[in-house]
Amino acid sequence: MRLVVQKFGGTSVATPGSREMVLKHVIKTKQEGYSPVVVVSAIGRRGDPYATDTLLSLLEEAGGEVPARERDLLMSCGEVISAALVATLLNAKGHPAKAFTGGQAGILTDDRFGNAVIREIKTDALINAVKQDYIPVVAGFQGMTENGDITTLGRGGSDTTAVALGAALGAERVDIFTDVEGIMTADPRVVKGARILDTVTYREVTEMAYNGARVIHPKAVEIAMQYNIPVRVRSTFSDSPGTLITCGPERLITGIAHIPHLAQISIKVPSGGDRGLEVRIFRILADAGISIDLINVFPALKIFTIKEELVDKAVRVLEGIGVIPEVVRGLAKITVVGAGMRGVPGVMARIIEALESENIEILQTSDSHTTISCLVRDKDAERAITALHRKFEL
Ligand code: ADP
Ligand code: MG
Repeated sequence: MRLVVQKFGGTSVATPGSREMVLKHVIKTKQEGYSPVVVVSAIGRRGDPYATDTLLSLLEEAGGEVPARERDLLMSCGEVISAALVATLLNAKGHPAKAFTGGQAGILTDDRFGNAVIREIKTDALINAVKQDYIPVVAGFQGMTENGDITTLGRGGSDTTAVALGAALGAERVDIFTDVEGIMTADPRVVKGARILDTVTYREVTEMAYNGARVIHPKAVEIAMQYNIPVRVRSTFSDSPGTLITCGPERLITGIAHIPHLAQISIKVPSGGDRGLEVRIFRILADAGISIDLINVFPALKIFTIKEELVDKAVRVLEGIGVIPEVVRGLAKITVVGAGMRGVPGVMARIIEALESENIEILQTSDSHTTISCLVRDKDAERAITALHRKFEL
């Protein structure tokens, strides 16, 4: 058995025309002598009738707090619809196929609803289907607890489903089909001249993904790296090979990633005053489930960023402990990613030059071995990314 996992994202299954392309890729793989295992996302994006965000708005309109278990049960429906549809279409083309929910496919998770972690995959059901010459079509983004409750895996969860199944099944490769030609040097929706990368390393793409390149989910890349499975990111709408993610040499600069809609929170504390206050600030944010980034702590000043949508909640909990934060909304974090930049002098200088030449103010920076990030205004983001893309000749 030579297995290949093929994952199709929301836009790939969105219309009759795009689903025709999906079938073409699956059938071609079968005809090449592989056993395809298909993973699908929900149909379309926010606003489309079966998209997960649309389904969710139904519960949110019900008013009150939505119970986590029920929220997951509803959120899992979009992928189930998609799996049933794609399996039906394959059958209609004369290729026997069987749809599976995550649970039916043996994906067992913990019970962290909304962000569940895969504990184990029992592959018997899928293996049996393949042995009987069925093409399994698995609903992405979901699993099941040992009690039989349906869970979802968080944003980008279908990528995780695909790679985790690839690992459990010993697949030769996992293909992530999407609406762009592969992993590019920047988001092609933002930078017109973004270029496709033929290969990237697991580490390079992990950094790109964590810093906002949503083309593949970082959790999926981590699983692929751990089990050493080659992953390809490619277009549903063409036959080009896309980007191969694997081990290999790393570039000085891989690309530019960005995260929009952030807010910067500054908190002034009287120096020499209440030392416990600092502890309480970070503890209360953590307890409220607010993750913080770009953190700078000085004796009299604490600065960090959060998602803009969490500002009201953050201000509320901080005021609850007597802290009045200063908030700047409408910001974006632009990150230059490059595993090879470690110890190379001058990268920061070039970033500052590129942004200065566009008159873009940098509100904050941070760096790691493999990234340098700048916080800028959302309205400057596109120009900033384009200028950096040009400066580093990507
Ligand atoms: P899917 O529904 O197929 O999972 P996603 O929307 O999750 O698709 O991911 C594809 C999108 O990722 C593209 O449409 C593109 O706008 C965006 N993207 C962001 N950064 C990059 C990048 N560096 N390379 C390619 N695509 C990117
Ligand atoms: Mg995606």
